[in-house]
Amino acid sequence: MRVLIVEDDLELARQLKETLMDAGYAVDHAPDGEEGHFLGDTESYDAIVLDLGLPVMDGVSVLEKWRADGHMIPVLILTARDTWSEKVAGLDAGADDYLTKPFKTEELLARVRALIRRSAGHASPELVCGPVHLDTRNGKVTVDGNPVRLTAQEFKLLSYLMHHQGEVISRTELTEHIYDQDFDRDSNTIEVFVNRVRKKLAVDIIETVRGLGYRLDVP
Ligand code: CA
Repeated sequence: MRVLIVEDDLELARQLKETLMDAGYAVDHAPDGEEGHFLGDTESYDAIVLDLGLPVMDGVSVLEKWRADGHMIPVLILTARDTWSEKVAGLDAGADDYLTKPFKTEELLARVRALIRRSAGHASPELVCGPVHLDTRNGKVTVDGNPVRLTAQEFKLLSYLMHHQGEVISRTELTEHIYDQDFDRDSNTIEVFVNRVRKKLAVDIIETVRGLGYRLDVP
């Protein structure tokens, strides 16, 4: 899962990036509205955290442009002041949720998790595929109740597939959703990760769809 943070307060952005990375997300950061708009327009994200008070282009304008261009990505807006009009403007521009500064990072994490889960069509924070359970709240993966230890990249890959169960996911799509923009991406390494995850799970839930990608399904 990959998240974009658009925030001009660099210290807050650094904290958010660290928190989200620790929670197992690939994270990109844009310090102004123009770069934020560009990244949201051209890269693949699972959720966006958007500050409304931004230099160059304000947050509401950024959001309106994305929505006008048909981008459905879930967006959580950050409002600096506890003014109802800013929240209303953001929600009316197409935001899915909001947080008022200052906030606890745990609350931001919970809201991001909920947004990603709901946009992928899941009501419960625990994702289940046959004997495999993935708890999005703490990143724990179990098979038949036994914990499985995954590396950060293996977890990102499994989490993306678990969120999109039953869909055929191409290697390119997986690559776009598990690496941040600075990562030297190579879609050939996806196969290596998939095989490692298969081995660790020891159950056959990741099917290779020849020429198209992978599909996660109950064996
Ligand atoms: Ca700001």
